Parts: sequence; C-alpha cells; structure tokens
Amino acid sequence: MLRNHDIEQAMTIKLDEDLPPKKPFIKGIRRAPKRELTLNRHEIKLALKNALRYVPERFHEKLAPEFLEELLSKGRIYAYRFRPEGRIYGKPIDAYKGNCIEGKAIQVMIDNNLDFDVALYPYELVTYGESGRVCQNWMQYRLIKKYLEVLTNKQTLVVSSGHPVGLFTSLPDAPRVILTNGPMVGKYDDPYHWNRAAALGVTNYGQFTAGGWFYIGSQGIVHGTYSTLLNVGRQILGIPHSGNLSGKLFVSSGLGGMSGAQSKAIELVRGVGIIAEVDFSRIETRKKLGWVSLIADSPEEAFRLARDYLKRNESTSIAFYGNIVDLLEYAVTKKIHIDLLTDQTSCHVVYEGGYCPQGLTFEERTELLETNKSLFVEKVKQTLHKHYALIETLRKHGTYFFDYGNSFTTSLYEMGIKEVCKNGENELDGFIYESFVEAFNGPLLLDYGYGPFRWVCLSGKREDLLKTDQAAMLCIDKDRRYQDFDNYEWIKNADSYNLVVGTQARILYQDAVTRTRIAKKFNEMVKNGEVGPIMMGRDHFDSGGVDSPSRETSNVRDGSNITADMAIQCFGGNAGRGMSMVTLHNGGGVGIGNSISSGYGLVLNGSERVDRIIDHAISFDVMGGVTRRAWARNENSLVVCIEHNRNHRNTDHLTLPFLCDDEVLQKTVNAYFE
Ligand code: NAD
Repeated sequence: MLRNHDIEQAMTIKLDEDLPPKKPFIKGIRRAPKRELTLNRHEIKLALKNALRYVPERFHEKLAPEFLEELLSKGRIYAYRFRPEGRIYGKPIDAYKGNCIEGKAIQVMIDNNLDFDVALYPYELVTYGESGRVCQNWMQYRLIKKYLEVLTNKQTLVVSSGHPVGLFTSLPDAPRVILTNGPMVGKYDDPYHWNRAAALGVTNYGQFTAGGWFYIGSQGIVHGTYSTLLNVGRQILGIPHSGNLSGKLFVSSGLGGMSGAQSKAIELVRGVGIIAEVDFSRIETRKKLGWVSLIADSPEEAFRLARDYLKRNESTSIAFYGNIVDLLEYAVTKKIHIDLLTDQTSCHVVYEGGYCPQGLTFEERTELLETNKSLFVEKVKQTLHKHYALIETLRKHGTYFFDYGNSFTTSLYEMGIKEVCKNGENELDGFIYESFVEAFNGPLLLDYGYGPFRWVCLSGKREDLLKTDQAAMLCIDKDRRYQDFDNYEWIKNADSYNLVVGTQARILYQDAVTRTRIAKKFNEMVKNGEVGPIMMGRDHFDSGGVDSPSRETSNVRDGSNITADMAIQCFGGNAGRGMSMVTLHNGGGVGIGNSISSGYGLVLNGSERVDRIIDHAISFDVMGGVTRRAWARNENSLVVCIEHNRNHRNTDHLTLPFLCDDEVLQKTVNAYFE
C-alpha cells in the first residue's frame, strides 16, 4: 500500500511545508462571476480529491471544506489562500530566482498576466476575455514558479492546462517550457464536457496569451484595432490609403480586456466612437488610462456629444455607461446615422456572463447568473434577438455592421436565427455579417503574414523600450506596401500613445521578413549591451499558428478552414526549432471546440544560438500560415509565397497551387448535372 509519506519524500519540488494563511480580498478588484457547476455528488468528491493532490495529507481535513465552499460558490476551486500576499506584477528579470534566463523570463511574463492593473479578474487568475486564465488555481501558480526557479537549460517544463507535469531532461536547443490549454478528445470537444472537466480541475481555458503567458495589456490589441478601423474605412467608406476616419461615427460595445482598445484606436484614426459598456469599473479603468475621453450616462447624451465632435471634424471616444441594445434602440428611434457598427461583448461565452442582457445592471447580471441560470439564458436570448433586429434596421439605413471575431454572429445562429447564414441554413457557407478577418484583416494583413509580433523588455526599463522602438522602426521598409507605412507610423508614434500597462512591452504588426530582421537586430543590441534581454513572441491572432474558421482562417475558402493541421504543425515546428516556450490552445477567443491555436515566446539573450533560432523559426512560424492561405488560392499570399520561393532557393520550397479557369469547371459540373 502506497503511503503519502513515501510520495512526499519522492518529490523535491513541491509546495511549502506550511499552509499559507487566508488573506482578505482587496475591495475594488474585479471578481469573476460563478462558473457553471454541473457536477453531481460523486464528481464534487472527485474535484476535491483532484485539488488536494497538490497538498500533503496533513492539510486535507482543513482544506477539503474550504475547497468545497469555493467550488459551490464560484464553480471552481481557485485555492485562494495560496495566492501570494500583496501585489503581483512583472518585475525586472533580475528580481527573479532561476538557473537559466528563460526560467526567469517566463516568471516575468506570468506575473505580468496577473498584475491587478493588467488582469481582468486577478484573484481568479483570469487575464482577459472573461475566462482566459494563466492556470487553474494558486497551487499551480506556486508550483510552476518553483519549477521555473530550478529549471536549467538542459530541462523542459511541461505544463498541461495549468498543471505543471514536471521537468524532463532535454537539450539546450529545446524549448524550456511546453504548455497546452484545454485540448479535448474530439468526441468531448464541446463546452459541456470542457466545463465539467474544468470544474473537476483537469483543464484550463487559456484564450490566447492568458494561458500562453504573453498578454501585454490592451496595447496588444490597440494596434490591431487601429489597423482594422483603417482597413474597414478604406474598403467600406472609400477612404484613401493616406486618409483617416475623420467625420465618421463608429459604434460598438465592450471596454474590457481587448475591447477596451476600441476607444483608443478610434481616436488614433481620428474618428468619433461611442462604446457601450455595462460595467462602470471598466469605463473608469479606461478613463484613468486616457483611453476614453468622455463618459455619457444616456444614449441621448452619447449621440449629442458625438454629433458635436463630428460637426467640428474633431476626434473623440465616448463611453456610454449602459447596454449596447439601449444605445442602438435610441439610434434607430431617432434615425441617427452610424457609419460603422460592430460588437465586442464576450459572446464566445455568451451564456456564462460574456453578454449582459438588456434591463439588468452589471451587478444584477452577476447575481442572476449565479442564482437563476435558466432565466439568465432566456434574457440573453431575448436581448440577442432584439440586438439582431436593431442591426438589421440600421443596415437598411446604410450602416455597415461587421463581426469582430467575438462569436456574436455564431451566437445568433446557434440560438436559431438562420437568417444570418449566407445559405439561410447553416454556417458552412459563412454568415451575412462579414467578420473583420474575413473581409479586412485576412486579405489585407494575415495573407501577407502581417501579424501581432510583440516584445517585452525584461529589464523593465523604459529606455530599453524606447531604443527597441527606434531600432524596429529603422528595420521597416515603409515604402514597400501601405501596410508597412501604417506599421511604420504606428511604431514611430507608439510611445506618444502612452499604451504601456504592466511590463515594458510593444506590439508591432509585421510580416516574416521584417520580424526576422527586427529580431536579429534586437539580439545584436542585447549582445552589445545596448539593452537588457528581451522576450519576443506574438499573439495567436496571426497568419500562422491559428486555425479558427470563424475568425483567423475565415478567409480560407478551400474547405480546409475546419481543419487544424497548421496550428499543430506550428506548435511542433516551433518546439523543434528551439523557441523558448511553445503553447497550444483550444478555443482561443471564440470558445471551446471553435479553434486550435499555437503561440511561442523566445528569449533574446544576445547569443549566436538565439540568432540561429530566429533564422530557423520566425519565418517558419509566419510562412506556415501564409502558405496555407496561398494553397487556398488567396492571391496576396500566393504573391508572397512566390517571392519566398525565389528568395530562399537553397533552404525553403513551398508547394503552390495551379489556378483553374472557373468557366471550364462550371461547364464540366453543369454537363454532369444536366
Ligand atoms: P471582456 O469580457 O474583457 O470585455 C467585454 C466587455 O463587454 C465587458 O467589459 C462587459 O461588461 C461588456 N458587455 C457585455 N455585455 C454587454 C452589453 N450587452 N452591453 C454593453 N457592454 C457589455 O472581453 P474582451 O477581452 O474585451 O474581448 C471581447 C470579445 O472580443 C471576446 O469575445 C474576444 O474574443 C473578442 N475579440 C476581440 C478582438 C480584438 O481585436 N479586440 C479580436 C478578436 C476577438
């Protein structure tokens, strides 16, 4: 019979001997709502047993009732008492213990994701997107950090959905951390089974960079939203390449983790924006940061302010404190013209609190969600129906509505509104509302390989960030394409946008060629001692690495957008090429079962080894996505791939598709059917 004593003796890396004391929760820090709990009596026992695996038997009697209370009141066991005292934030790398630079760098990244100023629900380890978590509970957090402190450059830490499986011997050129979040076996790859597994404490929703430990605050998304708005303006409103959105009204909802970028971005592109938000604390956060200029308590006031600014051709962002449906109802009743309309509520978890029903305050929504889930779901559905009807009316009057990749249209479809399907039946031919990727960022950015490249200056020094901004700017050939010019302008002005929250980080959309050039330059700067070490990576929302048919790969139209070969190959390929950290996730920003994505982090330490990894991995990471798009006959990708084959004759070779004459095919198929 195995004894706990022997098990304890067999581990040298484990939680501290003493149980940490319980701590009070600081008032004013946002708390996650209760998550759905469907476990039966037997499963609840299993969940407790699972959580108690992390602590020695002598604490079980004390912790079991505490964990049960957490499970029943929050739907999850967070093991709150294991949260370290005080503020968690990404400190300068030298403040961390470690046996290798990667072990320390990854601790900076994790802590930044849990910073009160950065994270959405820091006590519940949620970084952004309502449910994207760093790991499942505070015992895992502590244990992961202990592993990272002892990790050497001949070991790899394996993390399964937040659970540190352990250290395995590996080579210096291997990743230091490989982690996965939420993958499920196909038959069970749905929200119900995932939710059960999460309540049992055996899986985690990592979104993208929450569980991938590379969130850099909403800055990461401001650049993306800035590019989206410019591109929508160019395509839909006919704005010239060198123009902006001056005189145009943009309306949306959400001032949360990612959606919070909308108010800042609309000002950067010189338009006027009204963003509805039901949670006042989020409006306050954005206002404090200077990302929202004005606050309106009623739709009337919001549109009045907008009209004044539009008249003067001045730009501003207005937070409307209330429900998006109330705002749109007012616009329809008063026949107010909205140029561009979208939505960024968290519809990827539409019935879990991501979308607030009309008629409820944010606090009432939280209470109803906890006390009467079926009524809550009913109210969400009623509101979505109304929301849809309002959008349709506005569209008839010239408003352009697009889906912002938040599963809004999917939610309408899944509750039975088949009119949103292009074929009136199902989603297989797409939806009538173009997604921002399908229509804009796909063809204009991702097809070329432009994606959310980012870096963190691990020294924590602002001057390092300024030096890297300058160096990155000089690496961009701004005259090559207008996208390069947009990105050049972005990085040139990035510091003045005042976007840094948490670590000294920067986002810069780039393609394979320029990412490689910038990474090499940065590594050289680290080598020369001009800046401290840098952690480089990307969001998953990119050309390569993400298979997400309703979003990133929505403009892949050869039928392969429901396959996930690319994301998995990207994960394996980046591991094989020695990225410091490789990550694989289920669900991303669109919900369990709806996407597979992979990400990476690479620590630039100035070494030749890292130069080699840059050469081998960066281009592979991006071009995997571009090639996949080229194979789907996306023209811009084909052009990039042809050039790639020409420029990499001795190293790479990409298979390219021959194009068919549609008429020949039409004739052949018609002949058969006739
Ligand atoms: P979040 O949960 O932090 O923010 C959403 C906000 O919407 C919350 O603050 C919430 O209070 C508010 N809200 C909910 N219902 C509302 C309603 N009816 N009226 C007004 N406000 C309401 O999530 P997030 O990180 O901001 O992401 C939002 C969604 O956008 C997610 O589904 C995400 O996957 C998606 N998304 C964003 C981007 C991007 O570039 N910004 C890209 C892809 C997907």
